[in-house]
This record gives sequence, structure tokens and C-alpha cells, in this order.
Amino acid sequence: MRKLIMLVLAFGMAVTMSKAQNNPLDNPFFSEYQTPFKVPPFHIIKLEHYVPAFEKGIEEQRKEIEAIINNPSAPTFENTILALDKSGRLLSKVSIVFYSLNSAETSDEMQKIARLVAPKVTEHRDNINLNEKLFQRIKTIYNNRDKLGLDSLQKRTVEKYYDDFVRNGANLNVADKAKLRHINQQLSQLGLKFGENLLAETNKNFYLVVDKPEDLEGLPQDVINAAAITAKQFGQEGKWVFTLQKPSMIPFLQYARNRELREKLYMGYLMRGNNNNEFDNKAIILEIANLRAQRAKLLGYNTYADYVISNNMAKTPQAVYNFLNEVWEPALKTAERERDAMQVMIDRKGGDFKLAPWDWWFYAEKVRKEKFDLDESELKPYFKLENVRDGMFYVATQLYGITFTKRTDLPVYHPEVEVFEVKDQNENHVGLLYLDYHPRPGKRVGAWCGRFRQQTYENGKRITPIVNIVTNFTRPTAAAPALLTWDEVETLFHEFGHALHGLFTDGPYDRIAGSVPRDMVELPSQIMEHWSSQPQVLKVYARHYQTGEVIPDALIEKLQKSQTFNQGFATVEYIAASILDLDWHSFTEPRRVDVVEFENESMKRINLIPEIYPRYRSTYFNHIVGGYAAGYYVYLWAEVLDADAFNAFIETGDIFNKEVAERFRKHILSDGGNNDGMAQYLKFRGKSPSIEPLLKNRGLK
Ligand SMILES: [Zn+2]
Repeated sequence: MRKLIMLVLAFGMAVTMSKAQNNPLDNPFFSEYQTPFKVPPFHIIKLEHYVPAFEKGIEEQRKEIEAIINNPSAPTFENTILALDKSGRLLSKVSIVFYSLNSAETSDEMQKIARLVAPKVTEHRDNINLNEKLFQRIKTIYNNRDKLGLDSLQKRTVEKYYDDFVRNGANLNVADKAKLRHINQQLSQLGLKFGENLLAETNKNFYLVVDKPEDLEGLPQDVINAAAITAKQFGQEGKWVFTLQKPSMIPFLQYARNRELREKLYMGYLMRGNNNNEFDNKAIILEIANLRAQRAKLLGYNTYADYVISNNMAKTPQAVYNFLNEVWEPALKTAERERDAMQVMIDRKGGDFKLAPWDWWFYAEKVRKEKFDLDESELKPYFKLENVRDGMFYVATQLYGITFTKRTDLPVYHPEVEVFEVKDQNENHVGLLYLDYHPRPGKRVGAWCGRFRQQTYENGKRITPIVNIVTNFTRPTAAAPALLTWDEVETLFHEFGHALHGLFTDGPYDRIAGSVPRDMVELPSQIMEHWSSQPQVLKVYARHYQTGEVIPDALIEKLQKSQTFNQGFATVEYIAASILDLDWHSFTEPRRVDVVEFENESMKRINLIPEIYPRYRSTYFNHIVGGYAAGYYVYLWAEVLDADAFNAFIETGDIFNKEVAERFRKHILSDGGNNDGMAQYLKFRGKSPSIEPLLKNRGLK
């Protein structure tokens, strides 16, 4: 879930306005939507409406901010903070629709519009962040915040706005501001270059050609077919090509008997950006780490990790290191056991070699078969899409008393989209949920939860939210309805958790309502996954699509057992990458290091075993170049929270305990942004989260 906070903050100077081609009266963004619940009127929104709406939206907010700055009265919460918080309504209105559709139903024309408006919106945003007069008004209020009779939410809103400005350098002198801007520019260019190099190293510079059928031994037929198609794309017709993209590489590592070829492919993957060619990323990642160290120093932090994490629940890098170490010890032991079990298998079959990194997937697959005997195709008939959807609705009804009613009278952006009205137990309207399940050419890959309207308050009245879930699940065929894999079932529950967060968020100030720290964002989503695999819940929704038969206990048992399969490996490679990320962002000053040496030292310190590499190595760790710098740890951090939070239900002996659900809804989903993440968590749980449930769920204890 990504909040569109930047739009609330957006403000700017006049950009060159193009003349609207159409009659402004026809532009649906310029007046209140004339639809039930005032949903976006997708049936009349046309491509030509967007640019004029963006331009007018920017201009309106520019004037609103101008009015704040030029207000002759002394700055107050109302005339500055609240005015800023409520500014930019039109810009938000058009942005939220445009960017949602640009992800779910884009086209060349949409992308052209996106490219056209991006620099205007960015400039608009930069202008607000660096506006000296506006910052001075905010600072005055911030410095006097204890004397102004503000309530706790108002105070937090002031502090958040102040922080946003300061973290962007508003408190620096002119010379340091110039330095910061220069660093930002260098960083953005290096980031682009890193990504371009990685793309070339993944998609172009290496691929494995197989020309002898015997080298395909062990591979399933659909994998072989896919490799033949890939070969055509690479001009190798009649042969088979495997690339470094995971959907191509992983099945080869899992099934190919030819050990040498597995090594060749995996080494290709591990060496990306580290081949001493023009696409090498070693110098770039080091330069990025050094510039970030300088940036952190300028902004008054010891390291870049301090800068990032100070805003999160964890607060300090040390707290993250401590946390990761606590999971690391048992995870490493489990991984060692997994390795030893595979070695036994190798020895038993007379293989005269020691397990290597490129053998892990191959033997793990054999262990899975031997130990769990679980076949995906056995499960799928029980996971008809509509049944899974009703299953997650059922869970929400049990927990929160809300109900879901299908609405067919509302405009949608594609005929496949379903809309449900959400009501509470008193039949009050809570919000709307749009569901869009299947892949289309204009939909980006993956699954996400977004919104067409954020909850907000207008003149003291709450405007209800409209949330949407977009996924890329297998389509129904003539022969069968859409049957989901277990992974897809969990994904749907996951995104539904984000949706509930959006639906229940309630707060008068846009800046803080629902705005939880990054290492807490996945708590509402990951906790929902727990219910999906509970036998009690499975028996409600997992019914055979042909016979209606409830999923057999034996299958439930297999499913539950297999949840801990290979978790030592998965946890170790994840934590190793998280540590590497933190190490790169722990420079107190620019350093000259050998990148490979640095990585090796880092892994040696935690005793990583040679059979496993960090999930991402430095030269292809795109997360930390992008938005997850010093933040790759957040998924596991949130997993401690969701495992512990779900345990709050388990402890009562009732996975639908109403009291616990009410506390979770109130303190996490509804008021999550009202205070620090841990403070909110404590209100829900009454004690700090314990790491034990996570270790147990992952089979590490
Ligand atoms: Zn998520």
C-alpha cells in the first residue's frame, strides 16, 4: 500500500499551461462526481481530461499555498498546517485516478500523459519542499507547539510536516542546500545507471544455450517448451535458452540434472554487475554509499542508516542489527540442518561431491517430494477464485462484523472489475472495494492494493474511502473457472489486509491518517495471510469447484506442514541481504573499499555458510539503490509483528476473538498513524511483540 502523501504536500510555481482543448464544463474532474457514493465516473472520463485537470490542480494548489504564505496573520495551526493539509484537492483527485489506471489499465497514450505530467508534478513538489516562507511558518508553529493548546493529533501533524521539511534539507544554510541538491542529482543519475546496467546484465549479456536434448534431462515439459520459445527470441531456433530471469532460471536450478550447466547458469546470475565490463556496478554502488553518507552527515545524522531508520519503528540501526541477529542464529542452524539432509541424499545416491550453491534448489525439490508429497495440482481445484474471495470476506465478517454486497450499478474502468459495498454491523456505509483479478496487456505485473479515494474529512464530515485490489491471477478457461495456486490465495488475503487498513483508517488530518512507519506497513496485510491457512477457515471456503466437497483433512495437513519447508535457506538468504544493506549504509564518512572484499567481510562476520549467497549481492541489489535503502529488513520486522499479533488471537483460543479484533481494528487499522508505531502496537497488544511466534511459524524453533 502506498499512500499518496506527496500529493498532499505538492505545491508549486506556475508551469506553462497548455490550453484545454475541450470545454472545461465537460471535464468530470472539475466538478463533483455525479455518481453513487461519488465514485470516479470511469464511463465519462476521457484521456483528454487528464492534462487540463493536472494543470488546473497544480495551479489551484499553488494559489492555496500562496494564500498561506501571504496571510498577514501570525501562523496558526488552522491558517498554515490545516490549510496545507487540505490543499491540492483537485490535484489529488485527478492523480489518484490517473496513476491507478496507469498501473491497472494503461496504454501508449496514458504513458505519454504520464511522461508529460511527471516533470510538472515533480517540480511542483520540489517547490513546496524548498519553500522558505512556508517552512518558516511551519517552524514557528513547531517551535511553539506546546503552547498553542493543540490536541495530540494536531501536535503530531505539525511534527510530521516539520520533519518532512527538515528531512529534505529545509533547515540547512544556502551553501549546504546547494551541496544537498548536488548530491541528490548525482544519486539520481547513479541510480539510473545502476538500473540500466543491471537490466543489460540480466537480460542481454548472459544466457544459457542448451543444444543437446540430454542436457534437458529432469526438466518438466512446460519448462522445456518455454525455453524453446525463449530460444527463438534469442535467434537460437531449435535450441533451448535459459536466462537469468527467475521464472526461467529457478525451474532449471530445481530440475536440471546436468550439474555443470546449473553451475554455469547460477554463476551468471551471481556475477551480474561484477564482470569488469562497461556494465559493472561495483564503482557505482560504492559511490552511492559514499554520497549517502555525505547526505546523512549534512542532515545531522551519523550514518545513512540512522537517517532512514530514525523514521521507522525500529528507530536505530542497532535495533535492526539486534533483531536480525536474533533470528539469524536459529535460521543458520536450520539452514545447516537442511544442507546436511541434502548431503545425505547426495551421498546415498553415490554422488561424490559436496553440495554447492547451484545444487540447493535441485536437492531441496527432492526433499520436498520425499518429505511433504505435496503437489500443487492437488490443491488448485479447492481454490476457485470466487470461493477464496468469499473466504476472505467471511474472515472480515467474523472479525469486524462488516459485510460485502456486490454492486453492479457503479461505473468501472474495465468490465472484469467487481465492486463491493462494505457496511458495518449497523448497515452503515464503510466504503467501497474494487477487485480486478486477471492479467491484461495494459496491467503491470504483480499484485497491489491502491485507492480511488482516501478517507478524509471535509468540514468535520468524514468522506469514506474507495480501495482497489489489482492482481494477475490465472484466467478462467472454457473448461474450468479461475483456480488459484496456494501462493495466489495468500496474495489475495495479503492485499485484502491492505484494503481493510484503507477502509478502516479514520483521522481528521490527511498527513497522519493511516500513515504508519515503513516497517509497519506490512502488518495489516501479512496478518491476514494467517487466517487463510487455518483449518477452520479452509473448511469454509476451500471447496472443490466441481463436487463442492470440502478440502480433506489430509490435504490441509500436508499444506500446513509444507509451510516450513526450506525456511532455513529462505530466512538465511534474506537476512544476509538485509545485513549487507545495513552495512553499506553504515559509513560515517566516505570510504575507499574493494566492493567484493567488503561484501565478503560482511558475510564472514555473520558466518554465512558457503552453500548460500545473500539473496541479493551488492552489484545487483536494486532494492537498496531504489526505495529500500537501509530498509530491506522491513518485511521480516513486520513479520514479527504479524506473527505476534495473530498469536494474540490464538492465545484466547478463538481465532475470531471479537475483543482482540476490536483492539486491532482501533489501534492498528483505524488509528495506526496517530502515534509512533510501537506506541500503537502496545495499545493493541499491551506488551512488546515477541519474536517466538515468528520462529515457530518458520519452523526455526
Ligand atoms: Zn504488502
